[in-house]
Amino acid sequence: KTERTPKPKWLRVKLPTGKKYTELRNLVDKYNLHTICTSGSCPNMGECWSEGTATFMILGNICTRSCGFCGVKTGRPETVDWDEPEKVARSIKLMQIKHAVVTSVDRDDLKDMGSIIWAETIKAIRRMNPDTTLETLIPDFQGNERNIDRIVEVAPEVVSHNMETVKRLTREVRIQAKYDRSLAVLKYLKDSGINRTKSGIMLGLGEEEGEVIQTLEDLKNAGVDVVTIGQYLQPSKKHLPVKQFITPDQFQKYEKIGLDLGFRHVESSALVRSSYKAQKHIN
Ligand code: SF4
Ligand code: SF4
Repeated sequence: KTERTPKPKWLRVKLPTGKKYTELRNLVDKYNLHTICTSGSCPNMGECWSEGTATFMILGNICTRSCGFCGVKTGRPETVDWDEPEKVARSIKLMQIKHAVVTSVDRDDLKDMGSIIWAETIKAIRRMNPDTTLETLIPDFQGNERNIDRIVEVAPEVVSHNMETVKRLTREVRIQAKYDRSLAVLKYLKDSGINRTKSGIMLGLGEEEGEVIQTLEDLKNAGVDVVTIGQYLQPSKKHLPVKQFITPDQFQKYEKIGLDLGFRHVESSALVRSSYKAQKHIN
């Protein structure tokens, strides 16, 4: 039996406080709004919410995929709720969100893989919140261009798709995904005229430094503008174990390498999540 390594001190976070945070927390509880920030107990809630950023998940809570790192439930998903676009748009209005990040479970069970609800959600958010900027963190849609085009047509300010890990570990970390297919999706988004494209990886899954650098180079070659790099934390004992806690110095090293490669923004530290400081990535 392996002992769990205790978390190093740079991973311990203070509980969120502040007036804006309390206000939002009350709204979320009162109207039963669904954000990833609360359901994933994200450590950055205090910071993000006080800046007016939050992340919303669409297309239900059950995913057709079963990535080894992910806390979302796997199984047969719920039927599509066609009122969902309006509900999400209303939540964003109630919470007075300035920059909304929208993401979804993967819906490989649907013919359009959820891309129609995706587009309708973006349109509803725009209609109800004309001043809110948007980042969409999309699935790979199995690389299907017709589905990706539905996102491109509604033109979110930022479109992201996460690589999650280096090439060698992709099969172990996200079994139904493919490293090269994800890169191709990012390249397709850029070639279609998306202003800011973005991707994220988690560290501590057993990757080597050279592999991380290779991934950064691959992302650069796919025209990606923004990269996020954070520490993987195990959501439960059933998930992939943490192989290593990356030191703050090492995160800084990757940040420098990324900036030298020419990315517009690189967020690299232990608590970075894909939507951390998302508002800044529009520019
Ligand atoms: Fe929410 Fe993302 Fe910020 Fe976490 S990092 S609080 S999930 S917006
Ligand atoms: Fe989680 Fe996304 Fe993988 Fe589904 S596809 S298991 S939501 S990471």
